[in-house]
Amino acid sequence: MQTFTSCMQCQVESYTPNFSSFGIKRIPDNGVIELTCDRGHRTFILMQTAKYEILSDLAVTAICDGYYREEVASYASALECLFEHYVNVVCRSHSINPDDIEAAWKPLRNSSERQFGAFAMLYLSETGKAFSTLDTKYINFRNKVIHQRFIPGHKETLDYGQAVGNCAAPLIALLHSPRYEKAQQAFFSDSLREKAKQAIKVGARHSTQWMATPFGGKNISAGFDLNAALAERAMQPDIDSTVAESYAFARLLALLSPSKS
Ligand SMILES: [Zn+2]
Repeated sequence: MQTFTSCMQCQVESYTPNFSSFGIKRIPDNGVIELTCDRGHRTFILMQTAKYEILSDLAVTAICDGYYREEVASYASALECLFEHYVNVVCRSHSINPDDIEAAWKPLRNSSERQFGAFAMLYLSETGKAFSTLDTKYINFRNKVIHQRFIPGHKETLDYGQAVGNCAAPLIALLHSPRYEKAQQAFFSDSLREKAKQAIKVGARHSTQWMATPFGGKNISAGFDLNAALAERAMQPDIDSTVAESYAFARLLALLSPSKS
């Protein structure tokens, strides 16, 4: 998963973007992107987007690129990650200390079945209803792809992605409801504070970056439509071309600069 980047230090110093600092960087697992621009500034970009959202974006990218096994793996991971996020946010909404949440989650970390069990009972306790999870046929399909090296086709991949989206959408909408608003804000604030430590440690400037994803709250609150997500992706401008144009623009600005005349 890649994202567009630019140097914030350049912008702060000159009050305008440095077009020659524009680039494309892969988003690492910790959501912290380190940059060194053409003027030697070392800065950090902290991704604000939740990990389950980034995984949902990876899934759509995989479909677009024709990597269907990777789509299944990414959607399965996005759903598991969403369950963990829900547990974290709900516990925070009950004023449970993040360190205690982490201590309780640690023994479950290597077992998705245990994690789902913890999530399902917490959901029941919170809503009074059993969570409507994936149909068994989709769980079997995912296991066949992941554990039996099955190579899925296009249609069954789309069906699986839509089923995961249908499962995730009500939960994401619930997380974005006023009931969990403060707990969500606390989660993301703590997450950014943790991500900023690396930049603060080396005395570098950091900025935050958000990206729209298929599992974004605004997009999914009315339900999930994988075909619409794919159509939206097809309309996005090519990021490589945008960066190439920014370099050309930077060269043009340098030629027009008074110091060059
Ligand atoms: Zn710079």
